[in-house]
Amino acid sequence: MNVTPARLRFLADRAGALADEVRALCEGVAVDAPERDPLAAAVEAAGWLDRGSEDLRRAAGDLDRLWAVRECGMPWGVCPEHGRTLSSSAGASTCRVCRRTWDHDRLTKPCAEPVTWKVTDEAGTVTMMCDGHVLGAHAVLRGATFTRLATR
Ligand SMILES: [Zn+2]
Ligand SMILES: [Zn+2]
Repeated sequence: MNVTPARLRFLADRAGALADEVRALCEGVAVDAPERDPLAAAVEAAGWLDRGSEDLRRAAGDLDRLWAVRECGMPWGVCPEHGRTLSSSAGASTCRVCRRTWDHDRLTKPCAEPVTWKVTDEAGTVTMMCDGHVLGAHAVLRGATFTRLATR
């Protein structure tokens, strides 16, 4: 099963609902009833379930932020499909492979394509990059690990 923020929020809701159920159950017992004492641990458990629910919700938020579409940000542009195959002239860029053209000079601008790969080089340095940049990185980064990010 793939982890998703929605799945975590679903579990958070269940934990919260469980906490409510436990509390409702315990509150049904009269304050002066002898059952109150053994139920103290159950009331405490409801509190833990509430905290668990909050933590799950926080994890979902963190995952949301991690997965927010980010720009590649490498200091030069590439063809999203072919990598370092661009030629620039007169303020326009063309891919030498697919002939796709852009009406601005992509080579001199930071890459704005969405991040789709996590690249870890031999020294352990992590760089996030787009499809096009990963093509070039494959050629130069020997021993690096390429991890495709989960698509949503
Ligand atoms: Zn191309
Ligand atoms: Zn890029």
